[in-house]
Order: sequence, then structure tokens, then C-alpha cells
Amino acid sequence: MLVECTVFRGTSGNYYVRERGGGPTFVVKLRGNLKKELEYSTSASHARRVTRARKRRATDPVSVGDTVIIETDTLQIERVLPRRSEFARTTPGGREQHVLVANLDCVFVTFAAANPYPNYWLLDRFLVAAESAELKAQVVINKVDLSEDLEATKRELAVYEKIGYPIHLTAAKAGIGIEELVGELRGKISTFAGPSGVGKSSLLNAIEPGLKLKTGEVSEITHQGKHTTTTAELIPLKDEVDTWVADTPGLRQVDFWEVDKADLEFCFPEFEPFYGQCQFSNCTHQAEPGCAIHEATLSGEISPRRYESFMSMMKDG
Ligand code: GDP
Ligand code: ZN
Repeated sequence: MLVECTVFRGTSGNYYVRERGGGPTFVVKLRGNLKKELEYSTSASHARRVTRARKRRATDPVSVGDTVIIETDTLQIERVLPRRSEFARTTPGGREQHVLVANLDCVFVTFAAANPYPNYWLLDRFLVAAESAELKAQVVINKVDLSEDLEATKRELAVYEKIGYPIHLTAAKAGIGIEELVGELRGKISTFAGPSGVGKSSLLNAIEPGLKLKTGEVSEITHQGKHTTTTAELIPLKDEVDTWVADTPGLRQVDFWEVDKADLEFCFPEFEPFYGQCQFSNCTHQAEPGCAIHEATLSGEISPRRYESFMSMMKDG
């Protein structure tokens, strides 16, 4: 029988998949010649925006997060469905892309209202990283119970809401905002990114007691010659159908994400109305004469702090 499944774990040729709609779990392998077919078709279909369409061969034809059609008699993957998104890393040497998670629907960029205070510059970096990977992002501000001036924080966050990033205020321990967050996770593949200590593990634990993020950092992703292995895996929310949290330690750290400077201006959604409106077609938006983006910053249409983030990322990468 042919069954549509989500791949939630993959190790050395064995893929753990679960039937969509809340069905059983299978351990399957790739159909013999499927690997060859896929190597050339799905490879880096992830074209980043208009500035650059990188075509690199993917090292692994099936990734965690993929939707696959399996044959339950042979326990083989017959087909991999087209991806909605890819979170990929370039392998050492730079010739291949390793897709860590396919079909990520949303990145919840998480900070704390206090202890530690939100670092908006870092928040911008995470949002840019998500945009660059063409992933939807939402912002979670946890530990609202510790905030001395939540109104001030909300004022800062209004900028983000205005440009299209939903904001969630939560307190993991007090259970504030958790139901709303579960509503956002439902039916999707999501991940939590953000600095350590802001309460990502606590939030997941509040969402589902016992659901623990792996500890450990990027070192868990080991590069051994051509074969890249990773511990990326999807964890199901038990009471929900087709609802997964991707646990990839690297995803939590902004340095792990690859952003190309040439893409930067396209990673600020509020710049969009001004694309192509600068006096010079090769404008880098560093306050050149006739720069529409700089002018929009002066007139207050673009947040000066966000523009500063852009400038600083252009400078530092
Ligand atoms: P992670 O590194 O982002 O996974 O953060 P943790 O979940 O390990 O939390 C870091 C610390 O913050 C722990 O001591 C938690 O108990 C605490 N913490 C997490 N969420 C909250 C919250 O909503 N309110 C308060 N007051 N403390 C929290
Ligand atoms: Zn410009």
C-alpha cells in the first residue's frame, strides 16, 4: 500500500517516517534507483531570492521534514514530494548543500523580556537569517513575568509586528501565552531559535511536559569527508496531528545560519516598497544620494534601528 508520510529521523540510510494524519511509524529505506533520480532533481532547488540561484548538489536526497510516499509492503520510499522550504548548510569545500531540515514552516525566534533583556540587534540577525532561508518567522518574548516595563518592550516590538512578524508574549513557568503558541504550532513543522537562557527548553516543556530539546551545540553536526551526518530530528507533539518541532541544535544559533551579503537588502521586508526606487541601480543603500531606503528611514517609514541593523550587517557580514 502507498502511504504519505513525514520523515522525522534519518540515520545511515534508515528513515523513520510517520503516516500523515496521525498514523503509524515505519522504518524505511530508499528505493534502489530513487537516490540517483533525486540527486539531480531536488538538488538545491532552494533558490535564494532573485540575486542568486545557487545550484549545488544536495548530499542527501531525503531529509528530516520531507513528505514521502512509501510502499508499506517493501518498506521503501517510492517518491519524495516537492519541498516547501529547505534549511541547508554548505558542506566544507563549498560544493554541496546539506539540507538539515526540509519543509520548516515557521521559526519561532525567542528572546526574554528580562534576564536576559532582549537584544534587538541579535533579533534582527535571526529574522534576516530566516528570511534568507525563505522561512516564515514569528517572535516569542518569554519571561514576561520578570519584566519591569512590559509596555516599553511592547513599543519596541510594535516595529516588528508592523512589518509582518507576529509577536507572542509568554511566561513558560506561569503558563502565560502557551495555548496561543500551541495554536501557532498546530499542523506545522516549527523550530525555536534564539540565544541560550531565554527559555526555549522551558517553553517546549510547558507546551508538552517531557519534550526536551537536546543539549549540545553545533559540534553534534559532524562532517566526515563526503558523508555529513547530523542529529537533526523532528519531535512530535503528542496531542496534535502532524505537528512537529525540529530539534537541530545548530538552528538555535545565529552564526550557524548562512546569509549572503548580496541577499541582505531582500531580508528586510519593510524595504520592499522601495526596491528599484533608488537613484542608482547599484545603490547599496548606505546613504548614497537618492537612496529611497535611506530616505524612507529619514521620514520614519523604516525604523532607524532596523536600518542601523542592516548597515551593521552589511559592514560585518
Ligand atoms: P534555553 O537555554 O533557551 O533553553 O533556556 P531554559 O529553558 O534552559 O531557561 C533558562 C532559565 O530561565 C531557566 O532557569 C528557566 O527556569 C528560566 N525560565 C524559563 N522560562 C521562564 C519564564 O517564563 N519565567 C521565568 N521567570 N523564568 C524562566
Ligand atoms: Zn538605495
